[in-house]
This record gives sequence, C-alpha cells and structure tokens, in this order.
Amino acid sequence: MKVYFDNAATTKIEDEVIKTILPIMKNGFGNPSSPHSYGRSIKSHIEISRKIISKELNCESNEIYFTSGGTESDNMAINSAVRDLKVKTIISSKIEHLAVLETINSLGLLNDVKIKFVKVDEKGNIDLNDLEKILSKNFNALVSLMHANNEIGNILRIYEVADLCEKYNAYFHTDAVQTIGHLRFDLKYNNNIHFLASSSHKFHGPKGVGFLYINNKIKIKSLIKGGGQERNLRGGTENTYSIVGMAKAFELSYKNLENHENHLIKIKRYMISELKKNFSNVIFNGLSECFDLSLNSILSVSFPKNSISDFIIINLDILGVACSGGSACSSGSIKKSHVLKELNEKKDRSTIRFSFSRFNKIEEVDYVINCLKKFYN
Ligand code: PLP
Repeated sequence: MKVYFDNAATTKIEDEVIKTILPIMKNGFGNPSSPHSYGRSIKSHIEISRKIISKELNCESNEIYFTSGGTESDNMAINSAVRDLKVKTIISSKIEHLAVLETINSLGLLNDVKIKFVKVDEKGNIDLNDLEKILSKNFNALVSLMHANNEIGNILRIYEVADLCEKYNAYFHTDAVQTIGHLRFDLKYNNNIHFLASSSHKFHGPKGVGFLYINNKIKIKSLIKGGGQERNLRGGTENTYSIVGMAKAFELSYKNLENHENHLIKIKRYMISELKKNFSNVIFNGLSECFDLSLNSILSVSFPKNSISDFIIINLDILGVACSGGSACSSGSIKKSHVLKELNEKKDRSTIRFSFSRFNKIEEVDYVINCLKKFYN
C-alpha cells in the first residue's frame, strides 16, 4: 500500500486542474502583454483567475498579485514594507517558516531595522499580550505572523492580530500558505490585514506559483523590475498556465470546503485515537487536540526516542508511507526543526508530522498505525 501523509509539504495536483491547464498550454501560448488576439486571450484568463481568487477572499481583484509561490510572496511583503513603508521594527515569532525568518534576519543584518520576537509557549501559542506590549513601544512596525504553523498546525486568530496592529498603527503581514484552501477568509470584513501570502501547491494546484494579497490602503514599488507586469509590481512574463491552474485548484477547494474539512477532521480524530490506543507514550505537539485552534490537515506527534526507530521517516517510506519529520525544507534530514526547538521539545524525542488531504482515506490510518507498530519498542 502507498500512503501519502505529507500534504503540508505539497499536495497532489487535482485531475480537473490538469484538464483545465492542458488546452491552454496547447492553444493559449500568446504573451499576455501582446496587444493582438493571442495575447488578449491569455490575458483574459489571467484576469478571470484573479477574479476567482479575489471573490472568495472578499477583496478587490487588483489586490491580488501573482508570484512564484509562498517564499516569494513572504519576501516581497517584508522587503517592501521596510523599503517603501519605512518600517523600522519587524515583530515576528521564532516559529515562522524560513521564508519569513531568513528574510527578517537578512534585513536585520543589512538595514537599520530592529527585530523583535513575540513570546511563544510550549504549545506554540503566540502571546498576544506580549505582542501588544511590543507594539505599544514600537511605532510604524511590521508584524509578520503566520496564519497556521506548517509543522504543528496551530491556527492564529489573525483578525484579532490585525485589530491590534491597527490600534498601534502597525502593518500586518500573514503567511497563509497552509490555510488557503482550508479556512474561509473575508478581507473586507476585517480590512486591517495588509499582506497575505499564499502558494498554489499546498491546495492541489501547480508548483512554483502563488499570490500575494496587498491591501489597496498601501502602496509599494516593484522588487522585480522589468516589463511592468502585475501592475508594475512584478516584472516578467506571467506563469500563465500555472496561474490558471491555481485559480481552478482554489475554486475546487472552496466549492466543497465544508465536506473536505469534515473528511479531514474524521481522519485526524481517528489517527489521534488510534495513536493513543496503540502507543501509550505518544505526545501531540501544538494544539492538535483543540480542533478549532488547529488545522485539520496537520498532526505532529512525538515519541520518546528509545521507543521508536531513529530512522522512522525512512523506515516508513520503505513500507510506502510518506510523512515528514519537520518542515519541507528539512524533510529527508534528521535535523531538529527550529519550531520544535522553540517549543522546548526535548532532544530525546522522535517527531513525525502527518499531514492529510481530501484524497486520503480512513483505511490509510490503519495501515500507518500497523507500520508504526513494527518500529515501536
Ligand atoms: N510558508 C509556509 C508556512 C510554508 O509551509 C511554505 C512551504 O512549505 C512556504 C511558506 C513556502 O512556500 P513555497 O514552497 O511556495 O515557496
């Protein structure tokens, strides 16, 4: 049996997405910047894609900018906030994705920018009182906090954070790479989010494409100079086929969102109960058991080191089970994740991140539990 439980790293592309892209690859080869019919035709597909995404997020279509994915969107938001919005303090957490942490660190080294990290407890809760304390002492700050953590699945109450930012005149960027396609958004209901980053391959779309929402209240300049594409914000011929595929994947995710999430929660609950039943010393990282504060798609578990094989990810792979020991960037290596380190997870534990999609089946949990038993003392 083959089981893919690594959907936080990437997801399988939907058949319907491939069906949508193929005819455009064959016939829609025009350059969207060309004034003739070939160009205009593909340009209209891009603009329809933008509308599909903005309608669901309840924002203006000109607030959506297509990028190469989550990393570029995070980089663009943070770098432009410093360069164009004259941000002097960045407030973030040590459990952000490296796309955010590395960007912040490089800005801290090269610019006159202060970096402040908000307190995080051992369950991965962001301390909002601490955030308010930092905000009250730092004017014109950028807060960059992820919507849901890719390793432990904790969900942040972003609208509450957005209101705090508004109160202290700060900008708010959120990395929503793990939540787009899983949670509903209303960016007009709360108009205090300034940047929101997303990546198509996390919701069954093509890889190497994503978007950045930039609130119309703010104006930034291009980081990639060129032909003036994306309303002068990101030069370079658009990744047309992938943009269309991403919009289709986005539409499909939201069309049946409640059914998909009900399916995921069943899988996650069953996995938690089977793990508890079979492995008395299993530990659940983050807020996995608080279902409304944790993504249904992510379950991070740890075992005391000597109770399970040191090479558990590789051993499971040999039996056909794909899962991860941390984030995508560190998967394949046994290196301790910076997130788990920050949560004070003890060194003598082995951690596995199982992450689910709507294509997984409940029977797959039974298979994975049986595989785990083979490596458990
Ligand atoms: N942010 C988060 C939370 C992620 O999980 C990832 C990918 O794992 C990224 C950013 C990077 O996204 P991309 O792979 O599209 O560059």
